[in-house]
Amino acid sequence: MTWSSAIGAFIDLAEKAGAQVVYPAAGNAAPSAPVENDAYESMAGRIVEAVAAGCDAVLLDLHGAMVTRTHDDGEGELLGRIRKVAPGVPTGVALDMHTNLFPAMARHATVIAGYQTYPHVDMYETGVRAGRPILRILERGSKTEMAWGTRPMAPTKSGRCASSPGAAPASAARCGARASSARASTSSARPARSTT
Ligand SMILES: [Zn+2]
Repeated sequence: MTWSSAIGAFIDLAEKAGAQVVYPAAGNAAPSAPVENDAYESMAGRIVEAVAAGCDAVLLDLHGAMVTRTHDDGEGELLGRIRKVAPGVPTGVALDMHTNLFPAMARHATVIAGYQTYPHVDMYETGVRAGRPILRILERGSKTEMAWGTRPMAPTKSGRCASSPGAAPASAARCGARASSARASTSSARPARSTT
């Protein structure tokens, strides 16, 4: 069992690829009220500014259910801003399974991976699933297709997920959702050399 983070996986993957890592912002908050606009603009601004400065890939460790005073889909808004300043840059996103996955997130991300366990003990593995395909795009020119839709998910009293009958008990329930914790850290990676 590991309690490490998706951002930890991003850093490991980037270092193994010989990438230069830029880490513009990290924040964490317990669920409570909507994010104040000043806080959102400060965090999103740092991230977008770092991306606009130039990078080969963007990897974000987000929750996915952020609501701000202005935006019902804080992550989708952030991803849209990133896409605007860097339309061709592959963007990998790790999310909590408790995300509210709006279409904008799928539209503006290249790869999305979500926690598959509750309690959340697969943050690192989720980071690997979000980051590795991005590296493959950079290293091998791999192509990705994003599909978006809704699937039923209803954890039952037994701890099994209604949509995945073979799932393990609640301690490691794999509910098949895309999504990750109250963390809003991000990084962008600039490979210093080709690893193809
Ligand atoms: Zn969660």
